Amino acid sequence: MGIISILCCPECYATGLKLAEDSKEGLCSNLCVACSCGFMTGFTSTPKENKKFSLNTLLVFGLRLIGRGFTAGKKLLCTLNLPCISKNTFRAHELKLLEAVQLCSEENMKAASKEVQNFKKKYNLWCFGRWLMAAERPYVT
Ligand SMILES: [Zn+2]
Repeated sequence: MGIISILCCPECYATGLKLAEDSKEGLCSNLCVACSCGFMTGFTSTPKENKKFSLNTLLVFGLRLIGRGFTAGKKLLCTLNLPCISKNTFRAHELKLLEAVQLCSEENMKAASKEVQNFKKKYNLWCFGRWLMAAERPYVT
């Protein structure tokens, strides 16, 4: 007896709700709880971000961190007897991660640039292609 079958329906208060899997995408599922009175509600097995399951994104992220790709992920999931994600889904998550990495790297470069500017102002440094310590001294050619 599953936990769902002992829960009450919010419409008719009867027990015996049924849990069904509507669809599956990689490690995640869209689930549905239904009652014989017609009540039905859906939910996902893991949270979604931008219409993509975050668990699948984390799987792709983890694989890319260790330098592995789709085939290694497929072998891992098959070994663990878990459902595989399609190559298209894998690629979609890779592109999502690429966007995040690009945004992050741009923000880091802006922050680094600002830090260098502040450092130069604070210590009165001059930069002419390479760093010169020129405190209180103008550059003379
Ligand atoms: Zn009901």
